[in-house]
Amino acid sequence: MKGSLFIISSPSGGGKGTLIRRVLNELDDLTYSVSFTTRSMRPGETDGIEYHFVDVPVFEGLIAEGDLLEYAMVHGNYYGTSNSQISDAMRAGQDVILEIDVQGARIVKRKREEAINIFILPPSYQVLADRLRNRKTESEEQLEIRLENARQEVEFYSSCDYIVINDNLEKAVADLKSVILAERLRRDRQTDAVRDILTTFEP
Ligand code: 5GP
Repeated sequence: MKGSLFIISSPSGGGKGTLIRRVLNELDDLTYSVSFTTRSMRPGETDGIEYHFVDVPVFEGLIAEGDLLEYAMVHGNYYGTSNSQISDAMRAGQDVILEIDVQGARIVKRKREEAINIFILPPSYQVLADRLRNRKTESEEQLEIRLENARQEVEFYSSCDYIVINDNLEKAVADLKSVILAERLRRDRQTDAVRDILTTFEP
């Protein structure tokens, strides 16, 4: 059975790393799509785990080859999703999480209508600002850009299928898992199992 595609985005891209990592650890048959990016590696990151870190000429080569399902310039760096990587995983029956920005989420939804859009919202603008600041991964200038972008990106909620409010982490983990588990119960995801059961009802 083919897996589903979950697009997860949030205003400014902040506040969902821990949440997604928890859900990936707690659910089977769930894969994270490792994006390509031209941004520099942060302390603690590993090439091939959080991202495939590449330089601009390599990224532009990927665009030319045509294997990127989507790509976007986010906060001054390129980010993009490999089409073949996610298609292979889905064909193998894995559900795939795309953790991408709002521009990318819009493009993927246009290209793959069956994808499920989940928006992760912080409980308030101030909490988002505090979380990003405490992470200490950006300069104050980069942070201001992210927070300014967040004011428009938040409107994307109205195009999404599900909203998860990331206030209490345990509740947000449970909510995100519920969305994924409920999608797995859809009729079209269970046709093979149902067919087997129905044959036992034949007289
Ligand atoms: P960060 O640099 O903090 O890891 O991510 C910055 C932003 O880029 C976040 O909003 C993240 O969701 C987004 N992002 C990560 N990978 C991709 C991708 O493949 N495509 C797009 N469009 N955005 C991405």
